[in-house]
Amino acid sequence: MGAVPVAEESGPAIAGKVYLVGAGPGDPDLLTVRSLELLRRADLVLYDNLASREVVSLAAPHAEVRYVGKKRAVHACSQGEINRLMVAAAGAGRLVVRLKGGDPYVFGRGGEEAQRLAARGVPFEVVPGVSSALGVAAYAGLPLTHRDHTQAVTFVTGHDVEGVDWASLAGRQTLVIFMGLLSLPRIARRLIKHGLCPETPAAAVRWATRGDQEVVAETLARLPEEVKRCGLKPPALVVIGEIVGLRHEVEWFDRLPLRGHSVAVTRAASQAGPFCRQLRRLGALVLPLPVLEFVPPSDWSAADWAISRLRNYEWLIFTSVNGVNHFLERLERRGRDLRDLPRRIAAIGPATADRLRALHLRVDLVPEQYVAESLAGALEGRGLAGNRVLLARAERARDVLPKELARLGAEVDVAPVYRTILPDSSVGLARKHWIDQAPPRWVTLTSSSTARNLAALVPPDRLRRSRIASIGPVTTATAREFGMDVAVEAETFTTDGLARALCEAAQGSSG
Ligand code: SAH
Repeated sequence: MGAVPVAEESGPAIAGKVYLVGAGPGDPDLLTVRSLELLRRADLVLYDNLASREVVSLAAPHAEVRYVGKKRAVHACSQGEINRLMVAAAGAGRLVVRLKGGDPYVFGRGGEEAQRLAARGVPFEVVPGVSSALGVAAYAGLPLTHRDHTQAVTFVTGHDVEGVDWASLAGRQTLVIFMGLLSLPRIARRLIKHGLCPETPAAAVRWATRGDQEVVAETLARLPEEVKRCGLKPPALVVIGEIVGLRHEVEWFDRLPLRGHSVAVTRAASQAGPFCRQLRRLGALVLPLPVLEFVPPSDWSAADWAISRLRNYEWLIFTSVNGVNHFLERLERRGRDLRDLPRRIAAIGPATADRLRALHLRVDLVPEQYVAESLAGALEGRGLAGNRVLLARAERARDVLPKELARLGAEVDVAPVYRTILPDSSVGLARKHWIDQAPPRWVTLTSSSTARNLAALVPPDRLRRSRIASIGPVTTATAREFGMDVAVEAETFTTDGLARALCEAAQGSSG
């Protein structure tokens, strides 16, 4: 973890309380530290349709997570029911996070919910979030205030056009209209009728701050037509005012290297977080498609036998972060700990080495190239003849390393400590990505098993509608074996290297 304080480091949770929490505008990195902390502690999370999926998924595994959204006419839950749920859960001593898109007190009915809680004597707190109005400002290049252009900003709802005094809003200021996309033609007419210049710059922004953010910018008079022509749909904010004209100067989001590129990430959900985040920060629309899930090996006997005689090994070799995690968990379960490990430890690459170092274990060897062949080569220089070597790794893996080590005279034991399977959820996701919607522009493969499982999931002809980006030569070879065309291969065989290769390819294709 980075510098962000997490739940485990905070004080004791007060149960029996409701937190009205702002989930931010969409980009999960815009969640506040406080909101994250509460999400990780919550017993019950009640969320809206505007709270992003990534944010909701940060809830603790023990939490009950319920969708209570309202999408125009379709209500999963009435406001009365939501109130009752909150009051009942808090009464039962649970910690409730009522998660709302943006900020809870900006057109989110947070005020009404807080009133209800107060009236019932339910303890509650309100945690602000980054409102979509602020998200839109930053990510679409619309500085809401500027000394040369505006003195005021108004947040107004377009939900009930008749109920708003548009005459009072037609002055020299910035208007941010929530829920106004569908009534935009009427709103624009009224503002112009009340004296706002038809040439005033205006923009409509859908899904602000997300990888699929869309911006339509025009003059006020022409915006409704342009929105219609582009087929822009809610949820969107409309921003009207001179500052919209500054967009071309201060826009940055559209200039990110992977902006406009959808990238499917096939890593296991438990591992994909940092890579997804990195891609998102580069502007990509990240599509999680976990084609792997890690489960225990079909048989523990080889690993258990090795664990019972660990001191006999000169070397312990890990070829993945998963190998480290699953081996050490098993070690503990068998009543052993780090003190029992062999004297020397090798890791195939930097991520595996970092995982070991995080456990304060010194890594004696990391090869120059992060593949089995290179690891064997590096070990050769260490005079392996007669050494006992333990290799803790996936149940299904290439033979290269054990064979090479044996050739060097080592006595090699292989301990399978985990196995990968295709998660059930991936079938629906694959259908969504390659049948129901436009296919992802890129699919990233970060190991041979991601290539193998993806091939089992999506037929090659369909996959050809996306471009495949591979983490390195071994993964590429497996992908080709399964009939995939690999368009891009990382130069450094890490997720950083893969992200870099994607950026270069994206620049090449747009330049
Ligand atoms: N509490 C929320 C607003 C809730 S009202 C906030 O502070 O942002 C719902 C309206 O907010 C939507 O109809 C839309 O107009 C706007 N909205 C919310 N999230 C948005 C997003 N990511 N992009 C564009 N508009 C958004």
